[in-house]
Amino acid sequence: MTEFSLSLTDEQEQLRDWIHQFCVDVVRPNAEEWDEREEFPWPIVEQAAEIGLYGWDFLAQGMLGDKTGLTMPVAIEELFWGDAGIGMAIMGSGLAAAGIAAAGTQEQVLEWVPQCYGTPDDVRLGAFCASEADAGSDVGGYRSSAVYDEATGEWVLNGAKAWITNGGISDIHVVVAVVEPDLGSKGHASFVVPPGTAGLSQGQKYKKHGIRASHTAEVLLDDVRVPDRCLLGGKEKLDERIARVRRGEKGNAQAAMQTFEATRPAVGAQAVGVARAAYEYALNYAKERHAFGRPIIANQSIAFMLADMATEVEASRIMVWRAAWLAKQGGFVNAEGSMAKLKAARTATWVTERAIQILGGAGYTREVPVERWHRDAKIHDIFEGTEQIQQLVISRAISGMRIE
Ligand SMILES: Cc1cc2nc3c(=O)[nH]c(=O)nc-3n(C[C@H](O)[C@H](O)[C@H](O)COP(=O)(O)OP(=O)(O)OC[C@H]3O[C@@H](n4cnc5c(N)ncnc54)[C@H](O)[C@@H]3O)c2cc1C
Repeated sequence: MTEFSLSLTDEQEQLRDWIHQFCVDVVRPNAEEWDEREEFPWPIVEQAAEIGLYGWDFLAQGMLGDKTGLTMPVAIEELFWGDAGIGMAIMGSGLAAAGIAAAGTQEQVLEWVPQCYGTPDDVRLGAFCASEADAGSDVGGYRSSAVYDEATGEWVLNGAKAWITNGGISDIHVVVAVVEPDLGSKGHASFVVPPGTAGLSQGQKYKKHGIRASHTAEVLLDDVRVPDRCLLGGKEKLDERIARVRRGEKGNAQAAMQTFEATRPAVGAQAVGVARAAYEYALNYAKERHAFGRPIIANQSIAFMLADMATEVEASRIMVWRAAWLAKQGGFVNAEGSMAKLKAARTATWVTERAIQILGGAGYTREVPVERWHRDAKIHDIFEGTEQIQQLVISRAISGMRIE
């Protein structure tokens, strides 16, 4: 077991500084434009791929070559300090990769995860398709189905997925579907839909409040046929798991929950990045802006607000790092991943709102980035488990009881 330490290694510091510079040079100068355009920022993601920030190698080094668990949160915080919309465009494929890693065999990980990224000359994307219009938090309510066709040895997928990051523009879609309808969330399986598979299409593209450079769309599945090898984990393992559930034995958490559980510290790190950006901006502004013949920070009401903002950012980061470290050491003990995500998301929403307050009229306009950061922050209270779902997970963990 690696001891928990708040000291970063030299490599982690270098990585942080390298991403910071990319944000200063490329991400921040382009953030407003892509927010206004509400389009996927291909040129920026291609630049990220060229320097090695977007890609399978980056993910593998960040995840596998790090015993502390802190490398990815450090990298993600920095990227989202640059911009959350572009940050999500760069990190979005990671959710598909996490979905494959959570449920797939080693061979499947090696086959499909690199295809979620492509190469710097030929950038590709991945999407993780779990949520449905009538079932986001309520994963037991998914309706999209996968039926095995014995004659051809193929799975046939039908249904519609909602609010999918990179949905319809990805090469690899990881789809969570119902294989045993009477078993609720325990009757799910995950499938890889390879590039160019007939029957998968993009439905509506959503217009969003924030992270507008990230593409979010419906994914429609109309008799999508995939070979047996696209079932993550394989048929034998699925049959065994279903048999265990039918015997009333405890099985692993469902595929969607396993994926979201693993990515919670990363989502917390995103929120810390947005919060820090707004806090820093507000601090500088408060020192420079004068009212009543003095800098506004000379008023305790402003200075104390900034003191609270700084404290919340620091507290959130420590919780995220600890959760990421725990995840690396074998798992959460008491829902620390949910605690970190809950705390960091609330911090981002609150700190960005306070930053607007400190900037006054200027903060409410699109002349400065704070209003964008406030819009961007809010998603962290919603996706990958809403605020209330995190509270549910935490309350069940601390009480050992079935809280509804
Ligand atoms: C920009 C964006 C990107 C996304 N990307 C993806 C993606 O890539 N892949 C994917 O699969 N999904 C994605 N999602 C979907 C996201 O995960 C869901 O929106 C989220 O899980 C909430 O589900 P819902 O919208 O159906 O809300 P609901 O589940 O309908 O919740 C509505 C409200 O009710 C509350 N609530 C629900 N159940 C309970 C309960 N039991 N107790 C207390 N309160 C409850 C919720 O907290 C919330 O406040 C994305 C969403 C957005 C907006």
